[in-house]
Formats: sequence, structure tokens, C-alpha cells
Amino acid sequence: MTHTLFITQLADIFAAHQIKTNDAARPYHTDERNRYHLAPLAVVLPHSTAQISRLIKLCAAQNPPVAVIAQGGNTGLVGGCAVLPDCPSILLNLSQLNRVIEIDPLNQTATVDAGVTLQALHDALKPYQLIFPLTLASQNAATIGGNLATNAGGTQVLRYGSMRDLCLGLEVVLADGSVWDGLNTLRKNNTGYDLKHVFIGAEGTLGVITRAVLKLFPAPLHRVCALVACNDLKSILDTFSTIKSKFDQQLTAFEYISANAFDLVCTQFDITPPLEAAPEYALIELASSLPLDNGAFETALDTLLHVNVLQNAAIAHNEQQSAQFWRIRELISAAQKKLGKNIKHDISLPISSINAFCNATYAALQQAYPMIEPTVFGHIGDGNLHFNVSRGGAFADADGLMACEPQINAIVYRFVAQFHGSISAEHGIGLLKRDLLPTVKSDVELRLMRDIKQQFDPQNIMNPHKILP
Ligand SMILES: Cc1cc2nc3c(=O)[nH]c(=O)nc-3n(C[C@H](O)[C@H](O)[C@H](O)COP(=O)(O)OP(=O)(O)OC[C@H]3O[C@@H](n4cnc5c(N)ncnc54)[C@H](O)[C@@H]3O)c2cc1C
Repeated sequence: MTHTLFITQLADIFAAHQIKTNDAARPYHTDERNRYHLAPLAVVLPHSTAQISRLIKLCAAQNPPVAVIAQGGNTGLVGGCAVLPDCPSILLNLSQLNRVIEIDPLNQTATVDAGVTLQALHDALKPYQLIFPLTLASQNAATIGGNLATNAGGTQVLRYGSMRDLCLGLEVVLADGSVWDGLNTLRKNNTGYDLKHVFIGAEGTLGVITRAVLKLFPAPLHRVCALVACNDLKSILDTFSTIKSKFDQQLTAFEYISANAFDLVCTQFDITPPLEAAPEYALIELASSLPLDNGAFETALDTLLHVNVLQNAAIAHNEQQSAQFWRIRELISAAQKKLGKNIKHDISLPISSINAFCNATYAALQQAYPMIEPTVFGHIGDGNLHFNVSRGGAFADADGLMACEPQINAIVYRFVAQFHGSISAEHGIGLLKRDLLPTVKSDVELRLMRDIKQQFDPQNIMNPHKILP
């Protein structure tokens, strides 16, 4: 079936420069991991909620209806924006809906369009000595709408929570084109079901988020950052436990970096390692709007060195050195990308099970594929590991590794289940993990999820066939 008339009707809603097809559309329908490439009927870049509403009404009126795939920065890692075969779709890119509408310093809230990038929001807040704490290595491109739709996490969840905890209100265009104005700015509002939580983490399958009210926090004026090295993962976890119990809310990040990940970044980006080689590393950050007790932090690290939990530690003496430490953590995904395709597992586990999980999973992977190379890192203070697997010496090339992806996933996810973890900590389900969902959700949960989808999107036009098989 051709959609010539439909494409013509798009021109009633959008100016020519807001509609991209053919070569101009390609960057939008090639995903971050270069796994999905199918073209939509067109990419459209709306400037207003009203345009989005009209578009959705037009898509819903087609016979059969045209699917609407919302897109922010296209940095998602699970194929959430992928166009599916036999499913005529419009890719609705929100990057031009990008105004910071209001910053209310007294209420400590920001109201923003969904297409504002996370970095742009950080920049807009600088004059107010306020922060929006979500921090991701992808924040130059990732948008607030995408962050909400994936319930993004990042490096500061330990202190501030994930996107679900940071949002007060939403505006959403629903599957029939009507607009729900839920731009609540109240911190207390117990008036029935909290509808925003239906859309947060729904990956665009229930509606298009067009605006949001977000919580702000005082900018930490004092910060101290340390890079530490240990002989084993158990010592990294012991260090976390000690620092968390001593510094509690001041601990804003505790990031784990395995030697493979650390060495990869230093090699790929020509960085002189700031510490002697060790099997495991962690990046620790304390931050507060009140002065920090740096002496107490040094003493805590000294004690851990003395009892051999830590093998080495370096405290950043200034912002520049701190940024150098963070750069190593933030470049891990980019370093892996430079090396070629790898298999990613964004998983979470009870923190108390991480060590046993890693030991069991490494052993099983090595047995199945000797010399395979797990490149593991992540927000270990939240129990979140990026358990990525590179080919190492086990495969001649990345294609060989990728051909074994189902078997490697099966090994990793078997142990995730055994240790009561989750197959998706922060990246979502999208298309990539969709068919795994029935293996991790009960029949009751799946039925409730399908009922919600049916209620909000009876024609199945909002990012269809994502999340739910
Ligand atoms: C280098 C790198 C580091 C990363 N680090 C992290 C990390 O630490 N933590 C983390 O959680 N993620 C991380 N990610 C993943 C990604 O950046 C996040 O998932 C991010 O929130 C996606 O935002 P986006 O605007 O790019 O969304 P997109 O990729 O454009 O879309 C993602 C999903 O959200 C839906 N969507 C997008 N916008 C809307 C909207 N307005 N309304 C409804 N649905 C919408 C899409 O349909 C899709 O299903 C990282 C990615 C990269 C490349």
C-alpha cells in the first residue's frame, strides 16, 4: 500500500523543512548501536504540541493507521526508535521542541519542552546555582522526553534517584491526539492515580511526552572525587559499604570500572593511567552544598588502604583532576564503540549478590567461550552493572561474537535470574529485549501491562510492538 496521500497531508501540518525523507531521514533511523536501519514513511520535526496532536490524529485516521514513533536524541540502546517491517511509521523527532519554559528558583522546579537536551538544561540552570541532577555520558544529545520515556538513571541515582523520582508533572499527547495537561508543580498532590508514572518508562508506547516539570536541587558547592584501586570486586563492594555508611547523603556517585574497561579507555583515548595497574577500580564522589569534611574522607580511604581493602587511591586536588577521573568513566561506551560491536547487558542485582553473580557468570562464559572478554562497569552503588562482553581472543572478529549473542545472553540472563536481578536496569526493553519480557514477568503482570496498553492506545499506533511482544 502506498501512502502518497498521507505524505501530502503531512504538508498541511508541517513546513517543508520539518519533513525529512530519503537521505535526509537516514541519521534519524540509524540507531546508536547501528543495529536498526529501516526507513519510516517520513521523519517530522514539530515545533509545538498542537502540531503533534494534529499529526497523531492524522495517523490514527489512516486505514490501517500509521504508527507514531517518538524520538528524542536517538541515543537509546535498546532499539526503542526502530522502524519495524510491515509497520508503516512516522518518526516524530522532538529535537525542535526545545524551550526551557520556566525556571522557578523558589519552588525549585523547571518546566521544559521534551526536546530540550539534558546538557542544555544543565547549562540553563548555571546562573541559578541549582542543578537538575540526572547525569549521563549521552547528555549532549539525549533529551528530557527520552530520559523520561526510558526512566533514565545515570551516575547520580545513588543520591537523587532516577527520572521517575525527579519528575513532578507531564504534558502528553495521547493516542487519539488529545492533550493531557498534567504539568503539576506540587510536591504533594494525592488526588488519585498518579498518571505521570504510566508514561514514565513507557518508551513512547502510551503517548508522546511534550513537556515536563522537573525537580531542581541546590548546586553542590563542595565536591571531592577519588579514584581507587582494589585487588578484587569484593573489596570494591566493601569500600562502597564503608563510604556509604560514613558519608550517606554526601555520597553522590560510586562507579565501578573493571580493569578491562579502564585499560580500554586509556588505550583508545591515549590517556596516561592516573593509578598503577590493578584488577578493579572505582570512582567515588562526595558532593554537598555545605562544606565537606575532606579530612574524614582521606582518613576513611587511608584506613581502607591500611587494612588492604584498597590497593591504591588518588584524591583529585582540583576540578580539572576530578574531570580527568570522570572522563575515564564517561568514555567507556565510546571506547567500546571504537573497538567494534560488543554485547551489552544493562542489568541490576541486589548489591549483596554482585560478587557471587560476577564470579559465576565469568566462569560460565569462560567455559563456553575461552578468552572471551567481559568489559564490566557501572553504577555499582545502585546495583547496576553494564556487563558488556567483547570478543577478546575468543572470536576472530566482531561478527563471530555477534553470531553467538543469543547464547551469551542466555548465560548472562540465567545468572541474573538466579541472583534475583533485572534484565534491564536503566536502558529499558525497547525492541532488543522485548521477547525476553515474558521470561521475567508473571502472567498477571503481562496481563496488566497489556490492559494498560489497550486502554491508552486501543488502535496500537504508539510505538507498536515495543516492550510487549
Ligand atoms: C554513551 C551513552 C551513555 C549512556 N548512559 C546512560 C546512563 O548512564 N543511564 C541511562 O539510563 N541511559 C544511558 N544511555 C542511554 C540513553 O542515553 C538514554 O536511554 C536516554 O534517556 C535516551 O534519551 P533520547 O532522547 O536519546 O531518547 P531516544 O533514544 O530518542 O528514545 C528512547 C525511547 O524513548 C522514546 N521517546 C523519546 N522521546 C520521547 C517522548 N518525547 N515521548 C515519548 N517517548 C519518547 C522513544 O520512542 C524510545 O522508545 C546512554 C547512551 C549512550 C549512547
